[in-house]
Amino acid sequence: MPPRVRIDLKAISDNARMLMELCSKRSISISGVTKASAGSMEVAQAMIDGGVREIADSRIANLMRYSKLDVKRMLLRPVTPEQAGPAVEACDTSLNTELETIKSLGREALRRGVEHRVIIMVDLGDRREGVMPRDATAICEEASSIDGIDLRGIGTNLACFAGIIPTPVKMAQLSHIAEMVEDRIGLPLETVSGGNSANLGMVLKGSNHHRVNDLRLGESILLGLETVNRTPVPGLRTDAFIVSGDLIEVKEKPSKPDGDVGQDAFGNTVEIKDEGMQIKGIVNLGRQDVDPSDLVPVGDVKVLGGSSDHTLLSLRRSLKVGSSIGFIPGYGSLLRCMTSPYVEKVYV
Ligand SMILES: *Cc1c(COP(=O)(O)O)cnc(C)c1O
Repeated sequence: MPPRVRIDLKAISDNARMLMELCSKRSISISGVTKASAGSMEVAQAMIDGGVREIADSRIANLMRYSKLDVKRMLLRPVTPEQAGPAVEACDTSLNTELETIKSLGREALRRGVEHRVIIMVDLGDRREGVMPRDATAICEEASSIDGIDLRGIGTNLACFAGIIPTPVKMAQLSHIAEMVEDRIGLPLETVSGGNSANLGMVLKGSNHHRVNDLRLGESILLGLETVNRTPVPGLRTDAFIVSGDLIEVKEKPSKPDGDVGQDAFGNTVEIKDEGMQIKGIVNLGRQDVDPSDLVPVGDVKVLGGSSDHTLLSLRRSLKVGSSIGFIPGYGSLLRCMTSPYVEKVYV
């Protein structure tokens, strides 16, 4: 069989419902982030079935498809000024950091007779997208005066580039900026969006989240994990996605390679420990389909590594060639198996 990923839509809608309930107890609304599913319609619908009212994605093409669904749409990755037309068509709200782009979004919104909602992203230390805190009030004030633009609020995104942890201090900082913006523009901000699945630890602990009233959740809905330590969120399903391949070779071989050591297929020098003889299996999944180092086997096997088209396993006992081996993908593997055209998507 070709490599495949089994997607349990009920697990996804149950996770979405649980997280909505958990967050709404703390007066936080959530948007469901579909980007790791390559904009799957089924996954978006499962989140909506779980009660999610707003779907967020990083790609315009995915959000365009979601126009068929009865849901609000949010664009996570800022666009170039030149992409403002498609962006306005694809979503109601976009996250932004550049005034030139916001002006262009305003012009395109006016042309279409709509209002485009904007959340200004503030960089609170993770050093991916965002204006610096000292520049936030000025850009918000300017954005709010642009025709066609509705300044919905401000937001931040942590734990992505630099792994900076969301904390009550960071949330207080964002809330303080929100208050300064409100003072300046003389209107309350509807949304203070505090982050992503990395914020769930704070929600679970009941930490003070100040003015934060929105989170954008992807991995926690899809994989059931908070993302600071990647621990399962109590009550969530962690097996909504299972990626499988089949054994194309099973042989007893020495674990120790034989010969002079140079670089592997990807330019790395690998060191392989001598563990004596091993029952080795090869499954027909490779780096084109998953990240072999980011797979948790469902059965009693160990992942040794992989190349473009092979994942190598150490097997406890000999299995028949052709047998299937299932894995729970981490976020990196999920992203790859959902975007790989070679991996069949099987919805259940
Ligand atoms: C991907 C992304 C999210 C969702 O992150 P998860 O860790 O999957 O919850 C939220 N906000 C932005 C801006 C993103 O790019």
